[in-house]
Amino acid sequence: MEKFDIRLLINGNMVLGEAEKSVLINPDNNEVITEVPCASIAQVDEAIQAANEAFPAWKRKSFADRAEILYKFADRIDQKAELLAKLESINCGKPYQRMLEDEMPAISDHFRFFAGASRCMSGSASGEYLEGFTSMIRRDPVGVVGQIAPWNYPLMMGAWKIAPALAAGNTVVFKPSECTPLTILALAEDIKELFPPGVLNILTGKGSVVGKHLASHDKVQMVSVTGSVGTGKQVLQSAASNVKRTHLELGGKAPVIAFDDCDIDDLVENMAMWGYYNAGQDCTAACRLYVQENIYQEVVDKLTDAVKNIHAEDIGPLISAEQREIVQGFVERAKKVPHLKITAGGNAIDKGCYYEPTLIADALQDDEVVQEEIFGPVVSVTKFKDVDQAIEWANDCKYGLASSIWTKDIQKAHMVSSMLQFGVTWINTYFMYASEMPHGGFKMSGYGKDLSMYGLEDYTVVRHIMVKI
Ligand code: NAD
Repeated sequence: MEKFDIRLLINGNMVLGEAEKSVLINPDNNEVITEVPCASIAQVDEAIQAANEAFPAWKRKSFADRAEILYKFADRIDQKAELLAKLESINCGKPYQRMLEDEMPAISDHFRFFAGASRCMSGSASGEYLEGFTSMIRRDPVGVVGQIAPWNYPLMMGAWKIAPALAAGNTVVFKPSECTPLTILALAEDIKELFPPGVLNILTGKGSVVGKHLASHDKVQMVSVTGSVGTGKQVLQSAASNVKRTHLELGGKAPVIAFDDCDIDDLVENMAMWGYYNAGQDCTAACRLYVQENIYQEVVDKLTDAVKNIHAEDIGPLISAEQREIVQGFVERAKKVPHLKITAGGNAIDKGCYYEPTLIADALQDDEVVQEEIFGPVVSVTKFKDVDQAIEWANDCKYGLASSIWTKDIQKAHMVSSMLQFGVTWINTYFMYASEMPHGGFKMSGYGKDLSMYGLEDYTVVRHIMVKI
């Protein structure tokens, strides 16, 4: 592995963490990668103070000047793409080529998109709404934003958070997951060179210590977290201390509804890809398949064959031994349910933290595997009768992030998509993202948008300015 300084970035200085070290393990082979010193509480305070001091000048910069720095940062990400892909691959066990080709171009594009988008942000009104007075709307930055990321797409989630917050004129204290800090730390030197001190600070540490302190600190005006529902609830409680603005992206349990007029082979190919991508550690994973009764058996048979042909190395391992145990627990409990059939996989693999791509057929709506987020390479299949039942079951879920409909009938597709309560509905496709389009949920998947103008606006406050004329 190429060496780089494992230091935090506080107020433009690269410093060693002063608290305990977290040990990073490569889930591909369970070997220790390195140890990363975590930030102490005093260092979190220092970073927040620095972000506060940097805020007025960063906010006063023109959109164009901020954008220029973000463009340069995007260029650095591109220049370091191979190193970053290698680090993410070692840290998460992700297949290197996938990381390099799928994630790296999107990551730099998010910075470029928000750099340009911020220059197009506008207030919605300007006029005389009372006689003798002119009103206008401004969108101003919120202030210091604490940002807390998960381990499944560490640098991608960093880009989703950091780019809009900085483009809108906020300053940031960013905490990656304690398991996956390597890529953002590998960019600390670039951040130090490109951004004014204090504008973007990078801290490592546990959620229960560093994350909690960030979320409860009085000088942090907004906290954004991507993580589990449990973490989202804790962050909400911490944020209550100074009535912080919150931006939550939490779990998911995406339904895929396959009607009997769909292209079955296309469906099967997409399910085998997007139900298992990143080992299913994805809040939008296509993990809850509903198939209309007259094509049910054909879909199950074809998907079983396809899933048996997935190589575990192509989708990567689970992030840790603990995560694999959680996944294994779900499947072992499913094995004890008489009506469920494990038609593919169902076991841990004797290598790193790998788990067999698994398909569970004949699932019923109330089964645990249908209702709970497994966050592993496990997909359930449930038979449905008609459109109404499919809509009812798809929506009968505490999450509301992603969903998908498969049919050749465009009217049915539109009718069903209008009835679904999910942040995104893909029709005859899956997992397609564009920087211009929003990502975010309903219900316990949280609220707040990432990507798009909506993501940018989430990091601003709407203000009314009135002048007596
Ligand atoms: P997690 O909740 O364990 O951790 C997420 C982050 O929150 C980490 O940085 C962690 O240190 C921090 N954290 C934990 N407890 C905290 C606390 N009390 N206060 C402040 N910060 C705290 O999540 P994870 O296991 O890293 O990621 C998996 C989860 O994230 C899944 O549920 C997944 O669905 C969700 N996720 C959602 C999206 C989305 O866009 N909706 C994207 C990716 C992942």
